[in-house]
Amino acid sequence: MGDVARLVDGGDMDCGSGLLLLITRAMRRLEHGDLLGVRSAEPSVATDLPVWADLVGHEIAAQHVDSESGPWWFSVRKVVSAQQDTMFTLGNRTPVGQRLWVYTNFNCNLACGYCCAQSSPKAAARRVSPEVGREAFAEFQSLGGQEIFFTGGEPFMHPELGALVAAAEGSHRTILTNAMIFGRGTRLQTLEAMDRSVVLQVSLDSATPDLHDAQRGTGSWAKAMKGIGEARALGFRVRVAATLYDEDPATVGALHTRLDAEGIDRQDRIIRPVAAEGFAPTGMHVSIDSLEPEPTITADGAWWHPVAVTNPNLRIADDPLPLSEVFGVVRDTLAVQDAATRSGREVFRCA
Ligand code: SF4
Repeated sequence: MGDVARLVDGGDMDCGSGLLLLITRAMRRLEHGDLLGVRSAEPSVATDLPVWADLVGHEIAAQHVDSESGPWWFSVRKVVSAQQDTMFTLGNRTPVGQRLWVYTNFNCNLACGYCCAQSSPKAAARRVSPEVGREAFAEFQSLGGQEIFFTGGEPFMHPELGALVAAAEGSHRTILTNAMIFGRGTRLQTLEAMDRSVVLQVSLDSATPDLHDAQRGTGSWAKAMKGIGEARALGFRVRVAATLYDEDPATVGALHTRLDAEGIDRQDRIIRPVAAEGFAPTGMHVSIDSLEPEPTITADGAWWHPVAVTNPNLRIADDPLPLSEVFGVVRDTLAVQDAATRSGREVFRCA
């Protein structure tokens, strides 16, 4: 395949299941004229890769297939043109770079059956340090970023959560929590010392303990309700998020009635489906085609979306920093999707 500067082995991934991200990451590291080698065992790539190259203005320098059933080999020459800077403007989505998700840590006091992050008391902590946070948030704000969501794992298991959240001062900050462990000791001190502009988003799946406890563990509903009360008593705005396999009207209606009684504002309620990621045995299938990007950093990488941090196909980078690289990969990928949509190339599966 000639003298390739980099080789991407896509295995059996198609563009939508992650190959596009791999190619985009690799292309960003090449210079004009360099060759990227791509190997794939997925038949659709034989059609989609030339379409992708055409869309983004690169050249297929060579291609061959080992046998009728593959694998397929491509050599793609990177072409940098002025047109590429202006061709991708379609779309009305939240601008990439406006919002950032941070997995503060991966360990958790619970081990919910649908946990997309595979968190549990036994999970490795994989903490983001305040030092990395300071660097990330300074860059985020310098790039025009506005909103930061801290999730996990259970963020309040991070011994330096207070310093990490404080490092993001100046951004709109939300902490996702199960609200079960900040009621006493040093975690209570952390919460008490926190700026009241920080929003707490608490997981609560049902109006009564039955469904919530079945999904999240016996006794967890009562502790979450207690935690919601504690946070509100301290003056925090509390948002409630329910994660449901089946958004049946009775369950959702009962939850709204309960939250009305608790005085939780309508705009502070989120109902979301289970994603078939992590521990979840079933749920919504996710890919770069089905998920609007929500760039997410962890201690050891960056990802397309916070529900997909155990999915290697949705990994964007092997380091959380620099954020310019993380956002760049997402923007380049969206640009191809938008270009495919605009040109009506439905054959291109990434669009
Ligand atoms: S879903 Fe949330 S509370 Fe449950 S194990 Fe995962 S991180 Fe912990």
